[in-house]
Amino acid sequence: MPRCKDCGAEISFVQTKGGRWMPCDRGYVLYVRHGGYETVVTDTGDVVRGCSVQNMNYPHPTDGAARIPHFVTCPAAIARREAERKVRLQEAIAAEKAETDARRAARTVKKKPEKANDGAQLSFGG
Ligand SMILES: [Zn+2]
Repeated sequence: MPRCKDCGAEISFVQTKGGRWMPCDRGYVLYVRHGGYETVVTDTGDVVRGCSVQNMNYPHPTDGAARIPHFVTCPAAIARREAERKVRLQEAIAAEKAETDARRAARTVKKKPEKANDGAQLSFGG
């Protein structure tokens, strides 16, 4: 049984209709073709956009059994995507801050004068 080289989970390779071998989770889920944004792969290589049904006692008609692509559930892939998402978020925040700073600098025509010293001096003790 092949294993995921990232997390070590046992996986199955399913050949898609397009000829690609897709690493999938070993277990099957029921799926419904419409009404979802999940990808499942049938044993005949159909890559279906739909909704997986984890509960095998699901009381409504389904379109059959299929596997979930392993990259969806792989903890290593999830951690990698999360790390990439954080980097992109930090880059976006830095870019926005740089833009705000540049806009603020352009608005500041001349430096505001320092607050005038009103001459009041406080003395303590003495
Ligand atoms: Zn994995």
